[in-house]
Amino acid sequence: IKHNPDGDAFLEDESTKIFARKVADHYSARTNQTLEEREASVIIHLKKLNNWIKSVLIQLYARRGDAVLDLACGKGGDLIKWDKAKIGYYVGIDIAEGSIEDCRTRYNGDADHHQRRKKFSFPARLICGDCYEARLDEVLADDGPFDICSCQFALHYSWSTEARARRALANVSALLRPGGIFIGTMPDANVIVKKLREAEGLAFGNSVYWIRFDEEFSEKKFKSSSPFGIKYKFHLEDAVDCPEYIVPFHVFKALAEEYGLELVFVKNSHDFVHEYMKRPDYVELMRRLGALGDGNQDHSTLSPDEWEAAYLYLSFVLRKRGQTDRT
Ligand code: SAM
Repeated sequence: IKHNPDGDAFLEDESTKIFARKVADHYSARTNQTLEEREASVIIHLKKLNNWIKSVLIQLYARRGDAVLDLACGKGGDLIKWDKAKIGYYVGIDIAEGSIEDCRTRYNGDADHHQRRKKFSFPARLICGDCYEARLDEVLADDGPFDICSCQFALHYSWSTEARARRALANVSALLRPGGIFIGTMPDANVIVKKLREAEGLAFGNSVYWIRFDEEFSEKKFKSSSPFGIKYKFHLEDAVDCPEYIVPFHVFKALAEEYGLELVFVKNSHDFVHEYMKRPDYVELMRRLGALGDGNQDHSTLSPDEWEAAYLYLSFVLRKRGQTDRT
């Protein structure tokens, strides 16, 4: 990994900003679905499975009273999960103004798409900003250090340039206490590259998703090119339609180490399911969320195409160097 010649300046070119804006506009434009619309989605079981994975990660690592930093928090879909973990403080940041507004509405308890529920038991600060450009240690100077940082289905948007990937990790590292935990879910580059190799051209997919690489990232160039900015277009039915970036995990792991973040584990979603479905409490959680049914009823479980789309993701856990045990 080369060091950024601009040192801490982390300069960006205009096209990076344009793509960050594209992503922000895409997510901002996504309106809230009613419960009925959500249940009718062709990827409803995949959404439920992803919620189960995030819940398991949170239950594995969150402790009562924790201060939580949720990078790219979106519409606040994880607020309830954090509430169940009885956290003490929550900061959510997202680049999409519309999503942060929805998150605020949800936090304040007046979202009509959501069941009426009691107020969240933790105070929260919700901020609209670019987590991969802003110096969050300055923005959040009075809020940290945090016990847990979470970045769900969003860290790959930082991989457009080395500067942004570094800023993301520098932000996490600066705001986590020693021994603090960084959890996340993002596309699994190994799976995507394997599928690209097996594909006829530069695109592949099924009935719920497709991925298309630009000509410039044909496999030959892939190997020689920088590990940053390897762009593809990702379409997930009823969810995403965005430019995204490959995150080669070995590069991510090495870069994270530079920022004092050590790998605890990384698991593809398929392995994650197999591993944690050995635990009765997580089987019960899966049953409650309704992601994997008993298979006897039509549509009670993931379709094969949703299960293949789940394979595109991995979850990781990193720990900030320093004290290892929680007090
Ligand atoms: N973490 C949420 C969840 O799991 O429900 C939202 C995930 S959504 C797939 C990706 C989110 O990343 C969007 O809300 C998008 O606005 C946000 N995002 C993308 N680039 C970002 C950036 N540079 N800074 C902050 N948020 C960003």
